[in-house]
Amino acid sequence: MHTHPLSSFSYCPRCGQKGLEHVHGRAIHCPSCDLTYFHNVASAVACFVLDEAGRLLTVRRARDPEKGTLDLPGGFVDPEETVDDAVRRELREETGLEATEVRLLFSIPNVYPYSGVDVYTADLFYLTRVKSFDGATAMDDAGELVIVDPADLRPEAFGLRSIRAGVERIVADPKLIG
Ligand SMILES: [Zn+2]
Repeated sequence: MHTHPLSSFSYCPRCGQKGLEHVHGRAIHCPSCDLTYFHNVASAVACFVLDEAGRLLTVRRARDPEKGTLDLPGGFVDPEETVDDAVRRELREETGLEATEVRLLFSIPNVYPYSGVDVYTADLFYLTRVKSFDGATAMDDAGELVIVDPADLRPEAFGLRSIRAGVERIVADPKLIG
């Protein structure tokens, strides 16, 4: 059972008074200063990165949650950024690679527990092509780069539930990234 992040807040983040009202489980209203604040679903991207030989680039997570398991390059979309730009930026930040093609595959709703709070996300899975993996370097959240043949993908090697579900979709229908 997941609870909305705002349900753990007792004090108004603007005026500091108690007595917050919780609206639809997704917003707070402060009777003291009339603030209404929605904490909406966050957009996150995950990339199936293929080179021209059809190999797939994955990363080993450098941090918790699920440190040490496989992951796909990705992260949260920044304010005032297109989702396609978020894909290109996250790929660049984690691997140093430049995408030559970026295409949305599908999305999966997710709950991402972080610092004791459940963050609701819309995880957007992208097909991302690069010329080659030459010069790719593990940076930022990526502890190590792991190149695999898509035919050898094992969903159970991916620790984050949403990412594993995305990998299961590809294993069930490899044409999606073919
Ligand atoms: Zn207030």
